[in-house]
Formats: sequence, C-alpha cells, structure tokens
Amino acid sequence: MEDNVFLKIIRKEIPTKFIYEDDDILAFYDIHPIAPVHVLIIPKKPIESIASMAEEDAPLIGKMFLVAQGIARDLNISEKGYKLLIRVGRDGGQEVPHLHLHLLGGARLAEDIHPV
Ligand code: AMP
Repeated sequence: MEDNVFLKIIRKEIPTKFIYEDDDILAFYDIHPIAPVHVLIIPKKPIESIASMAEEDAPLIGKMFLVAQGIARDLNISEKGYKLLIRVGRDGGQEVPHLHLHLLGGARLAEDIHPV
C-alpha cells in the first residue's frame, strides 16, 4: 500500500488531536468536521478499505465499532444517538485509502445520499 495521510498519523508525523489509542486502533478528531462531533476510528494495520479486508480482519474491525461505542459514551452522545459511516472506494466517496470509521453526532443529522 502506498503512503497516505492516515499512515503518517499512525507514525505520529502529523499533528493530530487524538482521543483514543491502543495497540490496534487509533481515534482522532476529523480535521474538517461535518458534525459537532466528528471522530475517525482507524486500524493501525494498513487495510485499504472494507473492499479489501480479509476474513482475519473481522475481529479488528469489530473492535473499531466497540471503540466508537466507548467514545460516543465518553462524549455523551450515546443516549441521543449518532451515525457511523464507512465510505468504500470512488463511488462511496472514500478519499483516504486506509480504512476509517466516521463517528458523527452531537446534532440531528440529515440524510444526504444522492447520486452526484
Ligand atoms: P473519507 O472521505 O471517508 O475518505 O474521509 C476522509 C476524512 O479524513 C475526511 O473527513 C477528512 O476531513 C479527514 N482527514 C484528512 N486529513 C486529515 C488529518 N490530517 N487529520 C484529521 N482528519 C483528516
């Protein structure tokens, strides 16, 4: 996989507002938030997208959702609810070729899925 901004964040080469880290997973605030709460949860393992995940990645990706659950609780958005979003590839609007889970909340969020 070629180098990208999230691999640089994992290597701590870019200043980033981290909110969570363990051996497998990193979470940080999105630099261009589209909701009052906008956190990205990424695996440290270089997985390009859901389209290229392997069967062995299933527990790791499941753990990303548990981390999202915990962050939502910590940020007090759990009760009102939130949106979890994973973009896949060009038509899915994925910009960074490293798997990431968007945690979006802090307000009632509109649906905005339409062909461009
Ligand atoms: P996606 O469009 O699903 O690939 O999302 C990529 C996300 O990464 C976008 O929401 C960007 O704002 C975010 N992003 C890009 N560079 C950075 C960075 N250096 N720190 C935090 N978030 C970033």
